[in-house]
Amino acid sequence: MTGLMDCPQCGVNDVIEIKHRLPDGTEVQFFSCHRCEEKWWDRGGQPIDLRQVLELVRKARD
Ligand SMILES: [Zn+2]
Repeated sequence: MTGLMDCPQCGVNDVIEIKHRLPDGTEVQFFSCHRCEEKWWDRGGQPIDLRQVLELVRKARD
């Protein structure tokens, strides 16, 4: 993992990457583009939307 991710929205390489571990142990990454402020999530190399992230958090609490 290098963090050299292109923004899917504007294509620049100026992207912040933050790793998160959800309560159930799932590791996800949060990306945010400096240029266009696009934000997105990734789980194990697969795109995941915020709703799915929140769903995992909610399931872990049940
Ligand atoms: Zn962008």
